[in-house]
Amino acid sequence: MSDMSDVRELSSDSAVYKTLLESTKAIPWKIDWASMKFAYIGPQIEPLLGWSQESWVSAEDWAMRIHPEDRDYVVNFCVSQSKAGVDHEADYRALTRENGYVWIRDVVHVVRNEQGEVDSLIGFMFDISERKKTEEKLLSLQKELEALSFKDGLTGIANRRRFDASLDIEWESARSSGQPLSLLLFDVDFFKQFNDLYGHIEGDKCLTSIAQTLQLGLAGPRDLVARYGGEEFVVMLPETDASGALRVAERCQRLIEKQAIAHTGSPHGLRLTVSIGVGTILPDDNLTPTDFIQTVDQQLYLAKQNGRNRIESRQIEASLA
Ligand code: GH3
Ligand code: MG
Ligand code: MG
Repeated sequence: MSDMSDVRELSSDSAVYKTLLESTKAIPWKIDWASMKFAYIGPQIEPLLGWSQESWVSAEDWAMRIHPEDRDYVVNFCVSQSKAGVDHEADYRALTRENGYVWIRDVVHVVRNEQGEVDSLIGFMFDISERKKTEEKLLSLQKELEALSFKDGLTGIANRRRFDASLDIEWESARSSGQPLSLLLFDVDFFKQFNDLYGHIEGDKCLTSIAQTLQLGLAGPRDLVARYGGEEFVVMLPETDASGALRVAERCQRLIEKQAIAHTGSPHGLRLTVSIGVGTILPDDNLTPTDFIQTVDQQLYLAKQNGRNRIESRQIEASLA
């Protein structure tokens, strides 16, 4: 009698376990190690991925239903961990029958027999798509923020921070390659007056259009234009000598001239103009990027002093600085 009740108890226990397993959100499964066949997979798999419970026959079915970009890594990882008898977990995109995918976290327990050999793998698949979505959103927001922190809010070109960072990099690069590095500093002429005459909003538009124009004037893949300050812009030209830098400065000046922005307060054809300081250097240990900028700033000052709407350039010898 007591034997019978034990059996009944056991079978009702396993019915309870089955009900519990199949009513949780996590999807239970079991793979027999020797045959690599599914001994079981919870029915919840079908509503989640669309593949019927019966279609999960072997580990191959599991592998083929992993996103191709995740497949090799996940399969290799799970096989090597299982062989080593180590419990593990893996995140991957499982393919759905409708050609979509669901982010899954598979938590795997390695079951051994009495001899200590791997007997089977049992595990749970968790749907972690919501968590992944949040993670991806955070990541893209972070990238956006990073991009924004290097962008000038008004003109959309690189900001001073970006310029400073790039100058440090190009300085080192020029120093090790022995190539010249050139800088162009632009300052809009009589801009205070422009604002007074046309208003601050027109002033803003004008700065944006100058920024875009300067961008058009650059050709080198590493050339950079940045907003240096209020109505000042800087152009950095790696691997460019003094004559090359002067040509770029002249081209930029011409492009701005062609825009023919009216400025009735300007003595230069009643048009908006810029003054440009140009410097070229072969960086060495005697000078810093800040020294370089200061020297180019002096050239800009000269351009202002000498009447504005002009370019003053200088080849900087490190030993003279
Ligand atoms: P100079 O020919 O000597 O360069 O004269 P300037 O009037 O251009 O020079 P100054 O430095 O005296 O004035 C710069 C002006 O630029 C002052 C400021 O109102 C204007 N400015 C700076 N940033 C902005 C901005 O973001 N928008 C607008 N609209 N104006 C700005
Ligand atoms: Mg200024
Ligand atoms: Mg100015």
